[in-house]
Amino acid sequence: MTTFHSTRSTTDSLTSKQAIRKGIADDGGLFVSDQLGETKVDIADLAGMSYQAMAQRVLGALLPDFTEEELAQCIAAAYGDQWADERITPVKPLGDDFVMELFNGPTSAFKDVALQILPRFMARTTPADGGANEKIMILTATSGDTGKAALAGFADAPGTAITVFYPQGKVSQVQELQMTTQTGSNVNVCAVEGNFDDAQSAVKRIFGDRELAARLAGDSHVVLSSANSINVGRLVPQVVYYFSAYAQLLERQIINVGDEVEFVVPTGNFGDILAGYYAKLLGLPVKHLVVASDKNNVLFDFLTTGTYNRNREFFQTISPSMDILISSNLERMLYYLSGKDTRLIAMLMNDLKQWGAYEVPDDLLARIRAIFGAGWADENQVRDMIADCWNEHHYVIDPHTACGYFVMKQMPRDPLTPRVLLATASPYKFPRVVNESLGLDASGTDFECMDALAAATGTVAPSALRGLETAAVRFKDVVTIDGMEHFVQSAAESL
Ligand SMILES: *Cc1c(COP(=O)(O)O)cnc(C)c1O
Repeated sequence: MTTFHSTRSTTDSLTSKQAIRKGIADDGGLFVSDQLGETKVDIADLAGMSYQAMAQRVLGALLPDFTEEELAQCIAAAYGDQWADERITPVKPLGDDFVMELFNGPTSAFKDVALQILPRFMARTTPADGGANEKIMILTATSGDTGKAALAGFADAPGTAITVFYPQGKVSQVQELQMTTQTGSNVNVCAVEGNFDDAQSAVKRIFGDRELAARLAGDSHVVLSSANSINVGRLVPQVVYYFSAYAQLLERQIINVGDEVEFVVPTGNFGDILAGYYAKLLGLPVKHLVVASDKNNVLFDFLTTGTYNRNREFFQTISPSMDILISSNLERMLYYLSGKDTRLIAMLMNDLKQWGAYEVPDDLLARIRAIFGAGWADENQVRDMIADCWNEHHYVIDPHTACGYFVMKQMPRDPLTPRVLLATASPYKFPRVVNESLGLDASGTDFECMDALAAATGTVAPSALRGLETAAVRFKDVVTIDGMEHFVQSAAESL
């Protein structure tokens, strides 16, 4: 029986459905299963298998308390024709290497892979109190990408509602319109006077406010929850595309069954790359996983020295979804590679909370480094790489993917091990930076930038992004930081 407990203690024993509904453990740890890797996923017949069939196999191994039928329904609804490519995460050649596009979903960012299916998982979990009237309200502060992907996933999802806050004037024109034009009867979007950190801290306070929780539960049957990438239900769908990459390399006859592959992953909260490690534990022949960071290079320092230290300057960069000082999902990797040592993890996380830093034992660092490589790119290098990738390969990349491209170029290439770069966002989400990097006109609106980019490169803007110029804006509310709680309460009352 697969059960989940906290990375910091073994007292809980939850099913995956309970873990998904709960999100985070009471002691602040993340849910992990000690059975992970006991059942291997068969890779002999992956070539030619559909993404949906692969998802059924991989998710079946990771979430065994969902029935086959439940998983099949979730998968069919999440990976249907809202994706611009029927392979869902297509792999394409990039010189001697490969790129896997994770951005063909409805919001053009890799978070769609997880957020298209998470609401469908949630709809199949049972309220803790057994009450069928209970609604989950997802509450998120976003610096751009997560908010829209979560809105698109939860819009009109049964038993759920969603409220998204974003910092006024601090997201791009495209990102703001993506959110304020969101349709659906259970969605709310609101700008906040303040920066992302202020909004994020306020959301955490709202989550911790027991009085508010009691009021919401009593008056409106609403329970607050998070769509953050620490939720198991957001992590496991990402394991599938590592198998898909392998299947596509088999199909292209680049590898034979059993050959090892290397992945380079633009990293922020460590969710995407952790899914690659889970794939390895499930039996996928993954040689190395390479962390690519932006100028916020806390993970690079950790992987080179063994000391994680968040006491440093925070940089707001042109790759905003990787601007992070605490990579939450790292905790799960430390759990597994320390031999499931909950006491060590509890101690390290306590150090992080108390001192903003921790140091792992040498033998643990050695085990981590045998699997994980690391590199990072500053903003000038990111811009140079967007141009380099276009000039060398006639392939346009976004600023997040460009961090990975830079790191991949720095690494010595082993001709026997194919490398796959994960492309995490469409360049059309960041058309101004991309145009500046390519020497194209970037003086007009984001939409004029998109048109110039399309004309110069022969690529096509995703219609959902290009169409934002004429989409109707539904949400115009702006609140102060102190007004956020009231906004949440009114949103819950109006459900
Ligand atoms: C979220 C995000 C990342 C980082 O992924 P993590 O799972 O947080 O490491 C990278 N690129 C883009 C475009 C993203 O939206």
